[in-house]
Amino acid sequence: MTVHLIVAEKNISARRIAEILSEGKKITEHKDTGVSTYSFGDTTTVGLRGHVVEIDFEPGYTNWRSEEATPRSLIDAKTIKIPTERKIVALLQKLARRAERVTIATDFDTEGELIGKEAYELIRAVNGKVIIDRARFSAITPQEIHHAFSHTTELDFALAAAGEARQSIDLMWGASLTRFISLAARRGGQNILSVGRVQSPTLGMIVDREKEIEAFVPEKYWQLSVDTEKMGERIEARHTHGRFHEKSAAELARDRTQAPLVVTDVKFGEKQDRAPSPFDTTTYIVAAARLGLSAANAMRIAEDLYMNGYISYPRTDNTVYPPSLDIEDILKTIRTSPFKKDVEWVMANRRAVPTRGKKSSTDHPPIHPTGPASREALGDDAFRVYELVLRRFLATLSPDAKWKTLKVLFNAGGEEYTATGGQLMEPGWHTVYPYSEAQETILPPFEPGEHLPFLKVTLDEKETQPPSRYTQSKLIQRMEELGLGTKSTRHEVIAKLVSRKYVEGTPLRPTLVGRVVTESLEQHADMITRPDMTQTIEDHMQQIKESRRTREDVIRESRQMLHRAFDQLEANEAVIGNDIRDRTAEEMNLGKCPVCGGMLAIKHLRGNTQFIGCSRYPECTFNIGLPMAQWGFAVRTDEVCDRHHLNFIRLVRKGARPWDIGCPLCHHIDSNRESLTEIPSLSESLALRLLACHIYTVAELAHSNPESLAKRLEISTETAETLIADAGRVLEKLRRRSECRKFMRDHLTPRKGRSYAKILTSLKSAGITELSGLAHADVAMLHAAGISDAESDEILAQAKIVYYGQVLKEIGIPAVSLKKYVAAGFTSPESFCTHPVDVLSKRTGMSPGTVKRHVDLVCTYLKKPLQKKYSRIQIERGRKELLKIKGIDVGVIEKLSPSGIINASALLESDADKIAAETGIPAHKIREYQAAIQRKRDTAIIQL
Ligand SMILES: [Zn+2]
Ligand SMILES: [Zn+2]
Repeated sequence: MTVHLIVAEKNISARRIAEILSEGKKITEHKDTGVSTYSFGDTTTVGLRGHVVEIDFEPGYTNWRSEEATPRSLIDAKTIKIPTERKIVALLQKLARRAERVTIATDFDTEGELIGKEAYELIRAVNGKVIIDRARFSAITPQEIHHAFSHTTELDFALAAAGEARQSIDLMWGASLTRFISLAARRGGQNILSVGRVQSPTLGMIVDREKEIEAFVPEKYWQLSVDTEKMGERIEARHTHGRFHEKSAAELARDRTQAPLVVTDVKFGEKQDRAPSPFDTTTYIVAAARLGLSAANAMRIAEDLYMNGYISYPRTDNTVYPPSLDIEDILKTIRTSPFKKDVEWVMANRRAVPTRGKKSSTDHPPIHPTGPASREALGDDAFRVYELVLRRFLATLSPDAKWKTLKVLFNAGGEEYTATGGQLMEPGWHTVYPYSEAQETILPPFEPGEHLPFLKVTLDEKETQPPSRYTQSKLIQRMEELGLGTKSTRHEVIAKLVSRKYVEGTPLRPTLVGRVVTESLEQHADMITRPDMTQTIEDHMQQIKESRRTREDVIRESRQMLHRAFDQLEANEAVIGNDIRDRTAEEMNLGKCPVCGGMLAIKHLRGNTQFIGCSRYPECTFNIGLPMAQWGFAVRTDEVCDRHHLNFIRLVRKGARPWDIGCPLCHHIDSNRESLTEIPSLSESLALRLLACHIYTVAELAHSNPESLAKRLEISTETAETLIADAGRVLEKLRRRSECRKFMRDHLTPRKGRSYAKILTSLKSAGITELSGLAHADVAMLHAAGISDAESDEILAQAKIVYYGQVLKEIGIPAVSLKKYVAAGFTSPESFCTHPVDVLSKRTGMSPGTVKRHVDLVCTYLKKPLQKKYSRIQIERGRKELLKIKGIDVGVIEKLSPSGIINASALLESDADKIAAETGIPAHKIREYQAAIQRKRDTAIIQL
């Protein structure tokens, strides 16, 4: 009996919380429709899967092309909440019905509060009386959890309302604008152009940066340096003027630089090197980027570490440790980690007060370790992240480092030069934090007035550099400065831009589509791409959190903003659409058509068909087939084939690794090479000539005209004819093979751990590549290929029907009749010859005349003797004759007649075992009948 129900954000945190609160009591894990609960005493914990409901428009808005539900109508459309995790919702409500108290223990931030409120509403819907409270914690550690559950509070509805407002606004902006732009550009399906409240301004920044880079005009400048040497060490001193912008001035200074090189001054100094401040989400992501982790990966790993109690909550803006944080205790805890030595060093050398950053907020402390971990338990990547967080924490408690600096001034012919050195005197925090390089430059001692050897003077010509593209972590920093998105969403926004093919590469650069969409929006409704709008909404969120404004009020204002944007957009719909279409057509172009010199481009058709075609179609029919779009949507990449000068092709699919096809023509040639070699009359040299004439496939060859082929390949028409005929035969074989592969795909249900490719290879090695082979395969062979016996029977039966059906059709049996034969159980051509016409006729319901015609066709094809045609009288006579035999009655006659035994002679001449097998009458019985007939005949002869 559950009295106290605890609702956590995820299953893993539900389990951790149960482990902590049970304090050694036995925990019972129970699985209900795949969802786990953890019970101890009268308490049960259950984990959600983040949001278990989502908001969507009420029904009636799914048709993009609807006249009434226009993109603009989505702004004012009513929204509803729909369960996305039905099993969890059902279980939550089932548990809540019986509970006396429910504690919401979701993550402690806006998103977590909203997830908590969603749970609250689901619970209230089934239990109006239950007490619902809220536990807030920043780390899933015993101390924090115990404290949180003994100091529970109320759910913060204002905080949740801010989250809800964001959800509604994001949905209405994203959905209405995405539909508008996609429809204007006539794009649908996988090809839609998405627009979003945070996404579009972020993309705008990347596009702006790209434009700055393009517009950048590098300027030349010159730098002077002089080389000298002391105590065997080479030293480079730079001219104190710095950059010369005039070449003549630099040259003048160079020419004046003359020996002797004299030391004029030596300045010593000391530099304090402050220990770094604690991690908030952004600084953490920047540091993790140096470990080679993308922002999204860094967050995923950090969340995992949090859920498992290794580090504190990773979504935080705070860079100041709160006084309540027991640093002593954390040090003690992590002392048992593999970093014992470093922890002990810090314990012995602690600075008076930990470092602090600029932002202090009350929700979560900065990211810090909460428990010991080992590489074995975490795996490499997670352990590297854990180590980073732990070392950062140690660094914030370590003393500053101290550098000794040295600045030496030189004079050579009146020109002044300088060299600087730095030496780490006290490494301080660098001892435990090796991630930031502390580069030392140690100079030998110098004395003023000292003369040094003058080795050489160098004049370097350099160019100013354009601003650099954004890395993911730099972009996140910039988004934070501009108030774009939140600490929880920034990395997701970037991942979305990548998955929507708006940006690519590291560092990030916009794709053509990303750029075109941004520029169109900028031109016609620039508020969508400017950060100000998003920032305003973020401010409004803050006001909701502080209960200074209501959710409805903020959403209303956002609606008005969006309506204003639509006023501009709708007025320019045609211009925007044409602009995007014209400019993005280029993104599909691959390069020159090898046949006619036109433009090859990727074409996407309805129903997932995609291929590469020529711009001069129908005059030029050159084309290259591509896998269906469900295997990946074809896009071009920047890489270009050295041989064919065509852009490479990549297939991209949501949630899957992209499939790189490379140069489409190289790929086309490679994938047709094997089948071309099957043409016996195609010699190697001819094959090369074929390629040179842009004939790449067996089909193209098979459909060639002999005269023109002869001319193009410079061969005789006769040879060309042979080649074409051979190609036709190979083409037919290829067709049958692909039919066999398709048959296997259609009849084998996909199962984990077995691939069609594997099965097909195995069958191929057993010599089965076509349906004819499959129809005659035995079960053992299929079994060896990984197909179960039960499946094999079904596959063999189906293969027979399909294959024999083809043969019968070829023989000339019309499709309508064929259906009737199959339904009556006559599937093989042989069965036409082994059954009497009247049996076939009776069972199929077709006239004996028609059936006889069919049977004759089949028997002629199989080179079997044509069946005798029995008249009704003959049949009747035979029947009477048989009935006279001892033991034969009407039932036996019915069983015998399908095997063609219609009279005594037929029965006497037949093979008893064969007839037994066909009719089911025991062989010894048949032998008895035969003996009886023989006896009768003998008697008859004697009587004669
Ligand atoms: Zn062409
Ligand atoms: Zn190529």
